[in-house]
Amino acid sequence: MNFLDKLNNIQNFVFDIDGVFTDGSVLIQDDGSLLRTMNTKDGFALKHAVTQGYNIFIITGGKSLGVFYRLASLGVKKENIFFDCHDKLAALKQIVEERSLDLSKTVYMGDDIPDYGPMCYVNLPCCPADAIPEIKSVAQYVSPYNGGHGCVRDLLEKVMKVQGKWFNTDDLKV
Ligand SMILES: [Mg+2]
Repeated sequence: MNFLDKLNNIQNFVFDIDGVFTDGSVLIQDDGSLLRTMNTKDGFALKHAVTQGYNIFIITGGKSLGVFYRLASLGVKKENIFFDCHDKLAALKQIVEERSLDLSKTVYMGDDIPDYGPMCYVNLPCCPADAIPEIKSVAQYVSPYNGGHGCVRDLLEKVMKVQGKWFNTDDLKV
């Protein structure tokens, strides 16, 4: 199956958070809690993908309540958000089994070593431009955008455009 056929087939998105939705930075507060920055263009595309019926899953080692609320506010189902996860491959396998997820319709985007197993497991592994070399070496699509700077938007938009689910700008005019 070529890349375009794979894009055409995608129904499920699985994302890492740090280094994908964020640029990997954390702002450390005095109480030890961490603050992250996310990209609103990524958020807009994610919300649109939810309205178009795509399944969105999040698997992250982080456990920020703020990130949880942000994802939920964008329409990601709470039961699809897996936080504080230290074996991402096991988590993904469990999702596949429990939700009868079709791997041939699943794209995964991660940026670092914990994502290596899941990247090798799904049909369409993708990563941001600034992912580590090991991840880039197994990615079938490397976004031209960095983590936190539009790689999520890029992937979502690519899939939805191929499937005719993105916006037609002619429809947005008076
Ligand atoms: Mg990461």
